[in-house]
Amino acid sequence: MAVRLYVDQDLCISCGACIGICPDVFDWNDDEKAEVTVDPIPEDLEEEAREAQESCPTEAIKDKE
Ligand code: SF4
Repeated sequence: MAVRLYVDQDLCISCGACIGICPDVFDWNDDEKAEVTVDPIPEDLEEEAREAQESCPTEAIKDKE
């Protein structure tokens, strides 16, 4: 099944970890929070995106249901 992620804007503390690990999937938005820029995640970026997700200190990166 395709991986689909989003960033909970209330939980993101703008640390930049996800963008540093996986800049092809995560980027800053106008509120200076991280957001997911591709949906669904391309297969070749899934592993990196999961690594970014696991590195988020506030667990702001969630799976879409
Ligand atoms: S790792 Fe988490 S807290 Fe840090 S910028 Fe990304 S979503 Fe926000």
